[in-house]
Amino acid sequence: MRSAVVMLIAALSCLQESPMKPSETAPGWMKPAAAKLETTLVGKYGESQRARARRGLKQISDFWRAPDGDQAAFEDFVGRNFAGDSAALDVMFNRFEHLLEQAFGHTAEISREFRQQTDLDAGPVLPYDEVFASYDPSAHLTDDFFDNKLAFVVLLNFPLTTLDERLSEGDRWTRRQWAETRLAEYFSRRIPADVNLAISKAGAESGQYISEYNIWMHHLVEERGRRLFPSKMRLLSHWNLRDEIKADYADSENGLAKQRMIAKVMERIVGQTIPASVVDNPQLDWNPYTNEVRPTGEKDSDSAPSGRGATSAPEPDTRYLRLLEDYRASRLADPYSPNAPTLMARRFDEDRQIPEDRARKMFERVLSSPLVPRVAGLIQNRLGRPLEPFDIWYNGFRPKMPYTEAELDALVAKKYPTAEAYEKDIPALLAKLGFPPERAKFLAENITVDPARGSGHAMGAAMRQTKAHLRTRIEKGGMNYKGFNIAVHEMGHNVEQTFSLNTIDYYSLNGVPNTAFTEALAFIFQGHDLELLGLRSPDASAEALKALNDFWATYEICGVSLVDMRVWHWMYGHPRATSEHLRDAVLQISKDVWNVFYAPVFHQRDVVLLGIYSHMIDSFLYLPDYPLGHMIAFQLEEHMRRVGKIGPEFERVARQGRIAPDLWMKGATGSPVGPEALLAAADNALGLVRN
Ligand SMILES: [Zn+2]
Repeated sequence: MRSAVVMLIAALSCLQESPMKPSETAPGWMKPAAAKLETTLVGKYGESQRARARRGLKQISDFWRAPDGDQAAFEDFVGRNFAGDSAALDVMFNRFEHLLEQAFGHTAEISREFRQQTDLDAGPVLPYDEVFASYDPSAHLTDDFFDNKLAFVVLLNFPLTTLDERLSEGDRWTRRQWAETRLAEYFSRRIPADVNLAISKAGAESGQYISEYNIWMHHLVEERGRRLFPSKMRLLSHWNLRDEIKADYADSENGLAKQRMIAKVMERIVGQTIPASVVDNPQLDWNPYTNEVRPTGEKDSDSAPSGRGATSAPEPDTRYLRLLEDYRASRLADPYSPNAPTLMARRFDEDRQIPEDRARKMFERVLSSPLVPRVAGLIQNRLGRPLEPFDIWYNGFRPKMPYTEAELDALVAKKYPTAEAYEKDIPALLAKLGFPPERAKFLAENITVDPARGSGHAMGAAMRQTKAHLRTRIEKGGMNYKGFNIAVHEMGHNVEQTFSLNTIDYYSLNGVPNTAFTEALAFIFQGHDLELLGLRSPDASAEALKALNDFWATYEICGVSLVDMRVWHWMYGHPRATSEHLRDAVLQISKDVWNVFYAPVFHQRDVVLLGIYSHMIDSFLYLPDYPLGHMIAFQLEEHMRRVGKIGPEFERVARQGRIAPDLWMKGATGSPVGPEALLAAADNALGLVRN
């Protein structure tokens, strides 16, 4: 999804040289000048404007720097740009709403056109196409708006609220008040270009480190030289390693030995005792149990010899050096983000808009739920052995599909030979989901379907005069079932995007509170894909298995998220730590979380597997999005199930726009964001799935 928020986040990673240096602070004349201006403004517009004037002056003082102008320029600016009565404020609000929609909308349109060749199945991608695709016309928008002072006009007149204020007072605000605070938020940070450059450099370097962290599986050997994995198998940590553990449940012969070996590899990555020589190296054999390394006799790759000798010398804590560099770069932005002065605050208060403390409590409720030992017992019965730590990735709660993939492929290919065929069918598909004919028609008119080069995605419009784009994969013989399933998901995004932009009352409120919400809405569509093909939907026992699968996955990722959160707090608490200190801290935190929430059901202590996620190294506190996403998806699914018909209810909830997540969820389901729906579904499922 590409909304104004996303674009502003993109704009914040601007690489342009800026005249402002981090050492610059507010000029000394600022405070007395602001006090004098408050008196002048109150004298001119009346006592009723005092609070607004004081707040606005404070807000612009937080961001104004010497190069923006001297005291006279500051006073002149305030005198000319303070809207002192409601009529002037209305004019200003409407003008900014309209013109920002044009700025975000047209830059999004240029981006979409520039990416056309790389995004669509439209012939070869030439070198210059890639340059067009990576160009972001909105990248300098925020900087420009501070330079030409439009950002200061907004900050002088509209309130920049804290998450606390939005949560404690937001349910009494009017829609217009919400729109005003969102308008001001576009300009809540003024991060200098060199700081953004440092952050994106750290992110790029840790991303690069992660993207090359492959394990050559055929070169893992057991004690007597036995190889468990096929030749050429190269797995990226942690995603592919974890997914291989999941796949190995189906291997009744060697599955368990493979899973144990992968868990050992993960343990060595987290603890950095992995020999540096074996990372992404098919020229060496490695026994992860003894840590012995030898030149291989098995050639299963054409890659040139790495030149790294057969030594067990451990990786020199590079994993934690990368994470430390992420932290050091992130910290540079703190002084320029007065409303959210830590990376934790920016992630939770600004991006997710759920306080960290509340998120932690929700995670702990799942982790310490009495359902955990019950589901663990069920898994143990199904496996026929005691649980081992890697069973946090158990994936055996999968319903049997009532149709074969081939049957579904044939059906879909016949129905949708082209992207146009799918586009033409949108009104009928939406009717099946309960949208009245007139709404189905309106939505279809605002969604264009294009053949995607990749698997598919949804690209929302950012202004009302353009359309949302649904990108879906069309194979030579027509769409296949996998493509259809994705297309239905993307259609859910497009419908949300269309309602929350085209039918919204204020542009600044377009969208959803955070990405978990649009994903949850898209999953609701996706869950009905068989019905849309005229087939029967999954039955109650399939639903129950899905609930148990989601519960167990949430239990796993809640712990991983707690580790991620504690590690960031530890780094902020130890600004001078070295990579070795950080390694030891991550190991300790992983063990602590494990010992409290996992050891009681797994009967093993001091396990470090929760520290394996690659996101922890290159994604700057992104992991908590996953458990929140599971909870939000369950809440909305449960709600839609209760209501029965999706159409009108989907429109009602989507039109709430970008208010606070809890308010949005209360408006949608009657309750704030929380794990209750997920826990209730798992409890109910335990009654249906006996063994
Ligand atoms: Zn999605």
